[in-house]
Amino acid sequence: MKRLHPRRTLRPKRREHHHALNLCRQDILEQIAQNATLEDTLSAVARLAQLNPRTGAGILIPTAQGVRLVASPDFPPALAAGIAAAQVPDIPNDIQAYTLQSAAGEQLGAILLCRHPSSRLSALEAEHLAVAQRLAVIAIEQHNMVDELIHRAQYDSLTNLCNRLTMESRLSQIVQRSRSAPKTVGVLYLGLDRFRLVNDVLGHRTGDELLRQVGNRLRSAVRDTDIVARSGGDEFVVIIPAMARPGEVEAVAEKLRTRLAESFDVHGHQLCLTVSIGGCAGAPGADPEVLQRDAYTALHHAKRQGRNRTVMFDPAMGSAPPQRLEMERHLRSAIRHQELELHYQPQIELRTGQLAGVEALLRWRHPSLGLVSPATFIPIAEETGLIVSIGDWALDEACGQARQWQKEGLSTVRVGVNVSALQLEQSSFTEDVMGHLAQHELEPALIELEITESSLMSDPERSIAQLNSLRNCGIRFAIDDFGTGHSSLAYVQNLPVETLKIDRSFVTKIQQASDRPPLLENVIRLAHSLNLRVIAEGVETAAQHHALLAMGCDEGQGYLYSRPLLAHSVLNWDRHRPAHISQVTQDQQPTLAYKNPR
Ligand code: C2E
Ligand code: MG
Ligand code: MG
Repeated sequence: MKRLHPRRTLRPKRREHHHALNLCRQDILEQIAQNATLEDTLSAVARLAQLNPRTGAGILIPTAQGVRLVASPDFPPALAAGIAAAQVPDIPNDIQAYTLQSAAGEQLGAILLCRHPSSRLSALEAEHLAVAQRLAVIAIEQHNMVDELIHRAQYDSLTNLCNRLTMESRLSQIVQRSRSAPKTVGVLYLGLDRFRLVNDVLGHRTGDELLRQVGNRLRSAVRDTDIVARSGGDEFVVIIPAMARPGEVEAVAEKLRTRLAESFDVHGHQLCLTVSIGGCAGAPGADPEVLQRDAYTALHHAKRQGRNRTVMFDPAMGSAPPQRLEMERHLRSAIRHQELELHYQPQIELRTGQLAGVEALLRWRHPSLGLVSPATFIPIAEETGLIVSIGDWALDEACGQARQWQKEGLSTVRVGVNVSALQLEQSSFTEDVMGHLAQHELEPALIELEITESSLMSDPERSIAQLNSLRNCGIRFAIDDFGTGHSSLAYVQNLPVETLKIDRSFVTKIQQASDRPPLLENVIRLAHSLNLRVIAEGVETAAQHHALLAMGCDEGQGYLYSRPLLAHSVLNWDRHRPAHISQVTQDQQPTLAYKNPR
């Protein structure tokens, strides 16, 4: 009888296996991209790792409480229960453990196979195991990243206290609850007196450390059920959910003032602080916005009365600080009086130092206030709806300027224009944008509209339809300030965007050229896997430039390269760019170990 060559019988089987393995891998990657739960994804990975039905497989990952085991159906339940119950489990003798390691060398967990340690894996089993290891690492890293991003969106990264948004949502819940169990809700706004002096005299690092210590002291001075938040800069908010009497709010405020008056030891400096506090007590079911406004108004009065004191709100104080109303009135006439202007900040390609684009940033040249920052007037413009006409003006101006630069020889420079949620909600938005382009005879690809994730949230379907219709006309989109809002790459993947702009808060974490913050590196890697171009915002130091370059970030924007410039200065800046870029980035060039070994 003619003997079949063994390879002939094996080949089709191997092919089938490969095909099945590939399909399985695709399914799991799809699951990860869709943000399936880690449990579901790891359970699919465990099934993939378990090629042989007699070999149960499980994935072990560390958690804050101990470990978690996600096992395939054939993993012996008693063994699984034993491992999961132990804080630091001993791996039983009849189990093989394969570690899961991130690209940065971090131990993320292990794959466990129920088989004797001395038994060798077949080639096919080893192949399944290798694929399972890679997929498990991707799934765990993605999960950790999403967790960390959610944490960043809810907590202040400096003090780890709640941020303003979280504080506002907790206050709403507390007020809601106070309706059924009538209790007084106390709100305190705290402002550190003359804090800027600490930053100016002792530097930002000392200032930051002081804010951290103030946060810790406030946290330890109140009950666990009270909310302590940093609402921005040197301002903190304390919410006391349930008090028997309104008078207790002031007592808590005085206690906090006494605690903060004790000196702080910051980097060897003994620092003394005073604080101004504004407080109010809300009856059950009070309006949370009014409570915040009242406490803030009281803080204003505490400062005006000479600081270092507590002032409780009194209706005679009125409401919103007067400058704000005035600002609103002035803003209405700003367009008519041509007081708005656009400044342009260069964005450079990190690898080559070429000018890749500019971002148009609004400025308001007020006749008596001088140059007003958008951080002051954009929120008012958004609240009052004025942003629709201001944004439309900015878009028209930016299109005209882009065309002008094109004529002057700056041909391929893309202009980023910030667009607010309210503009996207206008049914005529697509038409308006296309109208400006046509009027200035500008190619759509030269305009990149910057939107934030949160601006799409109020009516996601409608906003996405709006983006798609503009995308079909050739307009590009960037997600702005990524890392400050919902921060979901899984969500971004469904949007017709080209670019991800990473918020400055990620970049400020980089202190040395060799730093590789894992979260930042992961965001860049995942963004690239979604074919997004990545721009880092707020690059201020050469070390940050080099670290971003090493992490594969595509472009940078920040004071290191240039502050926002007047339109006519952009050409001039570009002319001197090569010398300028090499000058600002040459410090701290990472030394290459293999170069010039002498
Ligand atoms: P954005 O869109 O994230 O713009 C970047 C902001 O970071 C700009 O602030 C820019 O001047 C600042 N910046 C750039 N590099 C650095 C750096 O190295 N260090 C630091 N500390 N900051 C840097 P700007 O011009 O004050 O604008 C603030 C925000 O106002 C913008 O943030 C954007 O959200 C909004 N905005 C500006 N122009 C417009 C506009 O035309 N329409 C709308 N809707 N919003 C605008
Ligand atoms: Mg922007
Ligand atoms: Mg930004």
